[in-house]
Amino acid sequence: SLPELSALMETYGETPAITLKESHSYAADELASAITDGELVIYYQPKVAVTTGEVVGLEALVRWQHPVDGLVFPDQFIDLAEEHSMIDALTQVVLHTALQQIKQWQLAGLKLSIAINVSMDNLAALNFVDQVAQAALDIGIAPQDIVLEVTESRLMHDQRVALEVLTRLRLKRFRLSIDDFGTGHSSLTQLHDISFDELKIDKSFVHGAWHDETVRAIYDASLGVGKRLGMVVVAEGVEDQDDWDLLCHTNCDVAQGYFIARPMPAAAVNDWMTSWDERVRNGLLNGQVKT
Ligand code: C2E
Ligand code: MG
Ligand code: MG
Ligand code: MG
Repeated sequence: SLPELSALMETYGETPAITLKESHSYAADELASAITDGELVIYYQPKVAVTTGEVVGLEALVRWQHPVDGLVFPDQFIDLAEEHSMIDALTQVVLHTALQQIKQWQLAGLKLSIAINVSMDNLAALNFVDQVAQAALDIGIAPQDIVLEVTESRLMHDQRVALEVLTRLRLKRFRLSIDDFGTGHSSLTQLHDISFDELKIDKSFVHGAWHDETVRAIYDASLGVGKRLGMVVVAEGVEDQDDWDLLCHTNCDVAQGYFIARPMPAAAVNDWMTSWDERVRNGLLNGQVKT
């Protein structure tokens, strides 16, 4: 079926030329039961250090394994979850599943952090801090190994509670990441109010930056802000050798994107690690410096 094909393509690295699944609106109660009945699955996408190729962490990306439609991507249900007050339940499922998985990998000897995407709506109540802290404690993951990625554009609604929640999380040593940097309007204000540990340059300012002066200018500016403020800078959307070489050339810290790995099910991570080690040993990191 098309949904199965789409899922296979994501796992095995084909880029669909067009979106295979037509846009589909789901009913809120269908999503609600999906959350409670275990139909959410987590895919993991690696983050690698640019200079060494070391795998520094994995980002948890939620998918809905729909009984009829197959693998449904988050852009088709995150908004729905937010609109119908289900985003807290969804985030809790993602958090617990991903922490339990990272625990298994840590027990197997891998030194990995786990990144969780957090919605602004999750930050609307102070008890989110305790929920995250309790999950970390119960499952036995150090807060330093948990990165909470907040999408910058959604930070625009200046909510005092959200700032308070983020500040408290940071005091508890969870790591905060500003996601999709460059796509919002209040990035600099937000950087002033909260001290983020990590800045993720949005993929639209990474892929193709060698070949487009405007894209390159925004990439350079974002990297500069992140570096200047002492943040770990991650480039998302690293899709080809040119993108990777740009990161090397400009001293970006961490890379993420299809060139390194597509998001994959937990069961595929071990094999990917092995093949990645091989790519690193075979000199992937010695990209040509272009001018
Ligand atoms: P994001 O956190 O910025 O995640 C990056 C998105 O870009 C992911 O899409 C990923 O599959 C995709 N991507 C990764 N590498 C490349 C690349 O090289 N090129 C291109 N073109 N795309 C790449 P995905 O998984 O569909 O997620 C979309 C967004 O949905 C995420 O953006 C995040 O904002 C949200 N999301 C995902 N999982 C969760 C979740 O558990 N909770 C919440 N609240 N939001 C989530
Ligand atoms: Mg993210
Ligand atoms: Mg992003
Ligand atoms: Mg995004």
